[in-house]
Amino acid sequence: MDEESAKPLPDLLIRTTGKGKSVFASRDFPIGEFIIEFRGKLYNREEYLKKVNPKNNHFLQIDTNLYLGPTRTADNYINHCCDPNAGMVIRNGKAMLFAIRPIARGEEITFDYSTSMDEDYWEMDCNCESIHCRKRVRDFKYLPESTREHYINLGIVPQFVINSVPEQRTSEPFIIEINHNIAYATPAAMAAPHKTQ
Ligand SMILES: [Zn+2]
Repeated sequence: MDEESAKPLPDLLIRTTGKGKSVFASRDFPIGEFIIEFRGKLYNREEYLKKVNPKNNHFLQIDTNLYLGPTRTADNYINHCCDPNAGMVIRNGKAMLFAIRPIARGEEITFDYSTSMDEDYWEMDCNCESIHCRKRVRDFKYLPESTREHYINLGIVPQFVINSVPEQRTSEPFIIEINHNIAYATPAAMAAPHKTQ
């Protein structure tokens, strides 16, 4: 175990596992709660295609022609799972991760990379060990229709990704109550107690 890789954050812990670096909850997250904002330098598609290492891709697509580059913080190391406990929401140009089911302290935080993908380029094999594992992570448009609808109903598919599926219905209500106050919190505020009601 690499001691250097253990970098504590307010609510999250980065640890090296068999999958490389992974991110774990260091406290419980109720459903709908903000977890972390994705950060990084902005790249357009052309720049992304030049810079990305397809074997170790840490870019995150946040619009049709826009990507967030790699960082050295927890947002960089959140792994894919075909049955994730978190989902990404993009609001006002910010890409943020929320719990889509209750997450217990010590659980690995994951999201489904396909929910942010409409790129017709990068793909990866998956060994997430979920019984729902699709074995291959690809663009959202290639997901089974029921899976697409499930994610859209949760409110965790950005509009540009929904638009990549011509037949997709688009006016689904959010099932998860997103906590908007926390959604716009600064990193410093994230360290503060979240329950203020
Ligand atoms: Zn999988």
